[in-house]
Amino acid sequence: MMPLTRRSLTIVLGGLATLLLVSLALYWVNSGKTHEIIHVQKEGNSPTIIRNVRVFNGTDEALIPYAGVQIEHGIITKLYQSGKIPPENLAGQNSMRVVDGNGGVLMPAFIDFHAHFGMSSGRPPWDSSIRDLYPLQYEYDAYLYAGVTSIVHASPIVESPFSTIKHGPRVYKTGKIITAKDGHPIPMMKSLIPWPMSMMAIKNLVLQIDPKGIDFKALEALFDGKAHHTKIVIDGVIPLGSPKLSPEKVAKIIAVSHQHGQPVYVHAAAPSDAYNAVLNGADVLMHPAYQGRFDDKMLKLLEQKQTPVVTTVQIWEWMIRGKTKNPPITPLERRLMAPGTYKSLMADWTEGIENYGKYGFTPSYVNKSMPQFHEDLIANIRAMQAHNILMVAGTDYGVPGLTPGASLIRELHVLSGLGMSNLKVLKMATSLPGKILEPTGPELGVIKQGALAEMILLSDNPVENLDAIDHVKIIFTQGNIITPIPLANSE
Ligand SMILES: [Zn+2]
Repeated sequence: MMPLTRRSLTIVLGGLATLLLVSLALYWVNSGKTHEIIHVQKEGNSPTIIRNVRVFNGTDEALIPYAGVQIEHGIITKLYQSGKIPPENLAGQNSMRVVDGNGGVLMPAFIDFHAHFGMSSGRPPWDSSIRDLYPLQYEYDAYLYAGVTSIVHASPIVESPFSTIKHGPRVYKTGKIITAKDGHPIPMMKSLIPWPMSMMAIKNLVLQIDPKGIDFKALEALFDGKAHHTKIVIDGVIPLGSPKLSPEKVAKIIAVSHQHGQPVYVHAAAPSDAYNAVLNGADVLMHPAYQGRFDDKMLKLLEQKQTPVVTTVQIWEWMIRGKTKNPPITPLERRLMAPGTYKSLMADWTEGIENYGKYGFTPSYVNKSMPQFHEDLIANIRAMQAHNILMVAGTDYGVPGLTPGASLIRELHVLSGLGMSNLKVLKMATSLPGKILEPTGPELGVIKQGALAEMILLSDNPVENLDAIDHVKIIFTQGNIITPIPLANSE
């Protein structure tokens, strides 16, 4: 009996010590002093009128010259036709706030359909440490700074019990990520997150399905009403040869989730796995496939079902970009990226890659597999574009090389570079994802009466000049009026 007792004691003490360590680490990360990058004002109890703006409503190419857009408690309550604001509306109420748009363009705020907070600092895996993690409040502020006010969070958010989050974007989050035993994202988390954080993160973020069968009790526990959607991962290539869920298990999990009224968002690397998932009712594909190309059968299925596919063009490109330093870091990335991350991304990666052998991510993986994945992913986006398949913009922020907020803006520029029109690209980050996330009730991603007042003010028309999205003047979100603080010495 003695050895058993001693062993149990060791486990208990070890567990407590780990918990303490992790709590301290989380406290450190979440309470880390952040420099202020945005000013936040509350809307107040009387309406706010945004005057003197042209409106891109999220769907129509032509701007609408409204005399004023009225918002109250985070809802668009009135749109005043040109020259038709009754003077008493502006003068009658002392506490009413009037925001002068200066002839700029008001449009729906952006939506990032794929992000993970608290996962990384954006540094490459061989140069990461706990100390580099952005505090959650900073990640939120950076997203708001860039004009991104709604986020699909594709993993649970691990928040420290001491966290003091004051404001942030609107978050649609999943419960635990469902994957095969030891499947993606477990090896990646072990490689990116330092121990013991990685151990704790895996326990909190992932539900591993045993190859022998689904533990339905554990699965049912995910439908506690706290999650917006269910996330399933089917990926045998991170790293190569990782275990993945069978199509039968995926079909079963989708069916159970749907019984609970919860949509299922699927990460599938292989086209065949994506095909089976969509056929079995997956509601969203969180990436284009990257382990090979979509064939005609797949494209027809996506076209027929109109299953949305999230673009995530930067998930493999970051490695190519980091190796060649091309294309360069954008000014917005530079503004929102931690100085240490910038240094790390600009450093020579040759040595880091050569010594990078952790958890199966070999130099050959970096030099051969990753560029191939990128090529296939881009080819699949081009094919989907040619087939009129519903795509929405998302970054998978949390992946190395990505920057909170700034990466969604860059995503839109990359999509435009693939030959999509500005109008299409803007819709992919506003009205199209908005309709998926808010199918009933007040609309998201559009400017019309009764819709959520999630809006940004730009100085130029982004439908004509996409660069206008790089400088957001004012962000309206959830009853807050936010102004970004540009760097004092910038430009
Ligand atoms: Zn992801």
